[in-house]
Amino acid sequence: KLTPRLLMIANLVKNGSIVADVGTDHGYIPVYLIKNNLAKKVIATDVNKGPIETAQKNIKAYALEAYIETRLGNGLEPIKPYEVDTVIIAGMGGLLIRDILAEHLDVTKSVNRFILQPMVAQDELRKWLVFNNFKIIDERLVCEDHRIYEIIVVEHGKQKIDDDIYFEVGEKLIENKDPLLESFINKHIKKQKDIMNNLMGQETERAVRKLEECKEKIKKLEEVLKWVK
Ligand code: SAM
Repeated sequence: KLTPRLLMIANLVKNGSIVADVGTDHGYIPVYLIKNNLAKKVIATDVNKGPIETAQKNIKAYALEAYIETRLGNGLEPIKPYEVDTVIIAGMGGLLIRDILAEHLDVTKSVNRFILQPMVAQDELRKWLVFNNFKIIDERLVCEDHRIYEIIVVEHGKQKIDDDIYFEVGEKLIENKDPLLESFINKHIKKQKDIMNNLMGQETERAVRKLEECKEKIKKLEEVLKWVK
């Protein structure tokens, strides 16, 4: 049985897809996708040998070797253009996810759907995606072990972002009225307040500027919170 985070990721795969799970680690997502008839075929990749061996063990335990192939390699390097229509990259930093997508554009261009779950730098990843002709078509929040994870689904296409705040709080989360959105925004507000507390008493130009930025961000986050309620 998958954890809530992995389950949410797996359920965003379109029925009948051919999927690459980049950085598969344990291989739980590929096993779930095939066992539940959600994907036709999965290529499970990882840059490290240990995780590939763990994934192979799990795939063998369910006798799914005919449907799940494992490949060792960095990012999208083990995938050939047009081999898969969906790519999952989960449990890595947003900047690493960005680099993986940017490094093999021939493969990236041939994929229809990306399901991304950045652990950090979510805003930087959204910004890069939007400025590089990806369109965020869906977003979900999921709570696991008292932490809220962000899952971003993208396809190729143009998108206009009206305010920088949407790089932090995905517009789709607001549109979907995500059940965790209120706690998610409150966490963001708390983070800004913590930064402000740490800056208190400092009078350098940088600290003063940062304080202003935090205040502005809190104002915007509180506005978003008002629409959500
Ligand atoms: N995707 C799984 C999940 O969400 O539960 C595993 C996440 S685990 C924290 C990160 C995995 O990504 C590790 O198994 C690691 O070896 C792999 N990894 C890190 N950098 C990678 C890269 N550049 N290419 C492929 N795999 C990578």
